[in-house]
Amino acid sequence: MSFNAYKITRVLPCLADPEKIRVVAEVLGEIQKVFPYLNATLEGCIYNHPALTLTFKKGDKIITLHPLHITLTKIDNEEEAEKILGWLQNLVNETYLGRDKIQPDYTMRQELKPTDIIKLLPGTNCKKCGLLTCLAFAFKLLRDQIGIEKCAPLFSDEFTEKRKLLFETLRNAGLKVPAEPFESGNS
Ligand code: SF4
Repeated sequence: MSFNAYKITRVLPCLADPEKIRVVAEVLGEIQKVFPYLNATLEGCIYNHPALTLTFKKGDKIITLHPLHITLTKIDNEEEAEKILGWLQNLVNETYLGRDKIQPDYTMRQELKPTDIIKLLPGTNCKKCGLLTCLAFAFKLLRDQIGIEKCAPLFSDEFTEKRKLLFETLRNAGLKVPAEPFESGNS
């Protein structure tokens, strides 16, 4: 297997961010063979083995690999898309070459939903984050449109357990979690 070539075939408006684009590229090569190895080595992948799709984030970009094409979301322009596709081609080929040292992972992980997040927030709808409800905060958090530190009450002693669980959940999903002092600090 090798990821031989790619070609951008469609450039569409980005549904997640109207100022960005979504790019679809066809690929030449049986890249699905590397998905379980990428699932084992990349953080926060969402792998669907029966459907043969693998989704992960690179910064704020969302990348989904399919057997014959790749979609890139929240992309600035075609030049950026080309750079990411080149990076992906290397990543796929190098991971496949080194697969003997990797235990393939066929686990399917579910995408986080706002309802998964809201139960780990204070749930008081206090509006200190500038939003009307904790649910609205959860939506924005998952879209990378607000930082977790904006929920000041979460950093009080009262919510230490929830905060730790939330950070772990976000980290496991490959989302950004602030470093110290937020993890251990109080409000
Ligand atoms: S600051 Fe936190 S607790 Fe208050 S509404 Fe926002 S998310 Fe909910």
